[in-house]
Amino acid sequence: MTQPTDIAELIRRNWMRVTDEVRQAAVAAGRDPKSVRVIGVSKYVDAATTRLLFDAGCCDLGESRPQVLWKKAETIGPAVDGTTNRSLRWHMIGHVQTNKLRRMLPLNPLIHSVDSERLLRAINREAERQQRVTEVMLEVNISGDEDKTGLSPDAVGQLLGIPGLNSVRISGLMAMAGWGTEASQAASQFRDVAELRDRLVASDEYNLPHLSMGMSGDFREAIAAGATMVRIGSALFEGVR
Ligand SMILES: *Cc1c(COP(=O)(O)O)cnc(C)c1O
Repeated sequence: MTQPTDIAELIRRNWMRVTDEVRQAAVAAGRDPKSVRVIGVSKYVDAATTRLLFDAGCCDLGESRPQVLWKKAETIGPAVDGTTNRSLRWHMIGHVQTNKLRRMLPLNPLIHSVDSERLLRAINREAERQQRVTEVMLEVNISGDEDKTGLSPDAVGQLLGIPGLNSVRISGLMAMAGWGTEASQAASQFRDVAELRDRLVASDEYNLPHLSMGMSGDFREAIAAGATMVRIGSALFEGVR
């Protein structure tokens, strides 16, 4: 059986390797490496192993289930590393049921996966009640797959245009390439997301600085297309499970 210290070392090496590859991809795309943030997707591992990823240097953790997010947040955070003063930000990247918002919003998560007007309004309502402003992104279904979640490009424009949602701050778009997509197809889907963002920003002066796209298998293509957040899971836990 592997000793815990070995797992810590393994995760540290994976983190170094992945962040190095992300940096290289940014440089190859002619971008500032600091403009791309790695969200460590910890949904594959338990709270103790997730903590090791934070210790390795990852300050942004992504979970796809609200219950797991808040359980881990109870165990690990609101972690502030005493020696370096790094603080931990939670990212919600999966489907959110509205009845989970009351408990999740106090953790100040960035919710990447807003995929309906109903959810956006519910977040706004609960955030207002809690007297906070919650940062969210709109999830776009760019591949057009029927079985994928996400808003059509038209619906994204409509949601951005809803007046009076003062307790949510929409900071960007999130997307996933279609299932089983070749890297070249993923690249063109990511460029479509970036173009949609550019169009929305140009036509209506929305402020959408973030593009959350790219996972372990296609983060290079996403970075080339302008991703500012890549959501990486399996590459960070290689050899751990
Ligand atoms: C699991 C997941 C990821 C991470 O995928 P990997 O291929 O393991 O890097 C990214 N985004 C979402 C929405 C996920 O559910």
